[in-house]
Amino acid sequence: MNRSSPSPADLPARSLRAVWHPCTQMKRHEGAPPLEIVRGEGVWLIDAQGRRILDAVSSWWVNLFGHNQPQIKAAITAQMDRIEHVMLAGLTHAPVVELSERLHARTGLGHAHYGSDGASATEIALKMSAHYWRNHGQPQKNRFIGLAGGYHGETVGALAVTDVPLFRQSYAPLVRVAATVPVPDLRRKPAHRSEADWVAHCASALERHLQQHACRTAALIVEPLVQCAAGFVFYPPAYLARVRELCTQYEVHLVADEIAVGMGRSGSLLACEQASVRPDFLCLSKGLTGGYLPLSVVLTTDMVYAAFYDDDVARGFLHSHSYTGNPLACSAALATLDLLDEARLAANRDLAARLDALFAPLHAHPRLTHARHLGLIWAWDVADAPADFARCFAAEALARGALLRPIGSTLYFMPPYVIDEAAAVHLRDAALGALDTVLTETRTPTPNHPRDGAAATPQASLP
Ligand SMILES: *Cc1c(COP(=O)(O)O)cnc(C)c1O
Repeated sequence: MNRSSPSPADLPARSLRAVWHPCTQMKRHEGAPPLEIVRGEGVWLIDAQGRRILDAVSSWWVNLFGHNQPQIKAAITAQMDRIEHVMLAGLTHAPVVELSERLHARTGLGHAHYGSDGASATEIALKMSAHYWRNHGQPQKNRFIGLAGGYHGETVGALAVTDVPLFRQSYAPLVRVAATVPVPDLRRKPAHRSEADWVAHCASALERHLQQHACRTAALIVEPLVQCAAGFVFYPPAYLARVRELCTQYEVHLVADEIAVGMGRSGSLLACEQASVRPDFLCLSKGLTGGYLPLSVVLTTDMVYAAFYDDDVARGFLHSHSYTGNPLACSAALATLDLLDEARLAANRDLAARLDALFAPLHAHPRLTHARHLGLIWAWDVADAPADFARCFAAEALARGALLRPIGSTLYFMPPYVIDEAAAVHLRDAALGALDTVLTETRTPTPNHPRDGAAATPQASLP
């Protein structure tokens, strides 16, 4: 078949020829082409054969209120009739102003700088932090700290703080790797330590690092409460609160990357709220537009903003990109915030409790360990997972009508907030069925990807 005579019938084959898919070793698609999705309806994706597949990962964690969501769609459509896009230098528009004001009101962070994706938000926060210290007469404060296993995006700058060797090692010569400090992963808490003790133990490692290196460190970047891409590492709010104290004490910025956990996913609008922490920089993206359009935002303090406010152009934050503050994306974010009111957050907490009860057979499953749940996030680790567990499980789940992509040997659910109990039962049963098939079949290990199935080695797995 050549490109000038496309046949709609073999779209997956055409996709493999023309599209370089993300986060994918393309050779693995031999014999397993990508699935063609033609429509979405709430939690359901509908494929070209008319099969319904439950989007249990909210399409990489972005789709908060289901597919084909009427209010968000209406907001974008109405905005489209006014102004679809206009550059944001020298000009402004209502959606970007309203969105910035509403985010300020909620976070206390009054200055919103926009990008189009999570990695760009990381870049903006890191650049702004280092530039702040430069403007402040301390240009040597330009290093960063991240938490072990942290994920903050995959552009060259963001890879500096993304502690996932599989994503970073091929680009090692391009990246100035940040320092990493241990995270109080609740699964790894030694039995003899209390939770508070475990938090203090890990925080003391950060403090030792700061004692030595704060004078050269611009910022610490963290994913509040849950490191999703690391394989759903949960840590206590007390650690985040202690991190805030230490950053203040040692004069290092705290960047909260809520790209995955923000926008209600953790049970509160922002995960930071659960530790009563106000970061110096807050990054949002993914669910910010309810999964409709690419948008990210970095919010920061008056103090940071003031350090750039000057007659000298070069002291300004000149970072820009073409679609910054796109009106359609901002109107989608405003509609998403409208949907995420206090009543919805309370309803989500009820929903989470009901779903957690429905998921009891998973909690009790003999091969699932470390059951954990926060807000509308569930995760379990598969004990003695076969090599290639993630890929085999995903295929089995798909065959049962559920889109699930385990990270290494960690199975997780991150469903849209509109999932009902019947759909949750479908999801649970699809997961149980897929587990039984994958765990009972003997499989040959894949020596090329030895870490894919290793327990709790999230560094080597694809989200
Ligand atoms: C997904 C993610 C990013 C990167 O966002 P992209 O839009 O994929 O670049 C950064 N941080 C966290 C915590 C994420 O989950």
